[in-house]
Amino acid sequence: MSSVILLGAPGSGKGTIATRLKSEWEVAHISTGDMFREAIANKTAVGQKAEGYIKSGSLVPDEVTIEVVRERFSKPDVKNGFILDGFPRTIKQAEALNNILAEQSLELDGVVLLNVPSSLIVDRITGRRSCTKCGTIYHLKNMPPKQDGICDKCGSGLMHRKDDTEEVVKDRLSAYNDLTAPLIEFYRNMDLLLEIDASTNPDDMIRQVRELDL
Ligand code: ADP
Ligand code: ZN
Repeated sequence: MSSVILLGAPGSGKGTIATRLKSEWEVAHISTGDMFREAIANKTAVGQKAEGYIKSGSLVPDEVTIEVVRERFSKPDVKNGFILDGFPRTIKQAEALNNILAEQSLELDGVVLLNVPSSLIVDRITGRRSCTKCGTIYHLKNMPPKQDGICDKCGSGLMHRKDDTEEVVKDRLSAYNDLTAPLIEFYRNMDLLLEIDASTNPDDMIRQVRELDL
């Protein structure tokens, strides 16, 4: 059983490797980005609160995000391990997570930092397409689907996220640098930080994660 956080800039590959590790480890995949997109599609109260922030590439306020995660951790499946993808993204969220885990007597095995040069990020994000049904992530150049616009795995349509445009990516990157990057030091101090080279391809990233022996 493994319980990990995937930490890294937008476009570093968190979602791609999370979907693969989830089936390999049979643990819960908790993606706050996916949860918000689902909430927006279902027009829930959380979706309405989150929508404007996501569109503009800024972070959803901590109170809203922490509440969503707290509720997710009240489900029993997290006891069998989890992969946190896109949470925490601020020091305040990381502190809240420590409390949530302590309340539930859960422990983190590690925080995997996905290192990728910022020069690769814009191209990765603008070329990204994802399955509307199973969430599998493709890239128009690097990992194209066999058939244009169709998921190899489940045959559903692929979508281009509205915040995956060049303009919005710049703001997402500055949010990462200002608010999320300080978590590297936070988890290094807790002796949990592990790093992989995320400038390669998904297979190689998975191989590196396996070598971490989580
Ligand atoms: P990426 O990692 O590629 O940026 P995500 O799907 O994780 O994509 O996040 C998309 C957007 O959802 C973020 O830009 C942000 O607006 C919002 N979001 C996701 N997770 C969080 C979080 N933990 N805190 C605040 N906002 C979040
Ligand atoms: Zn699919």
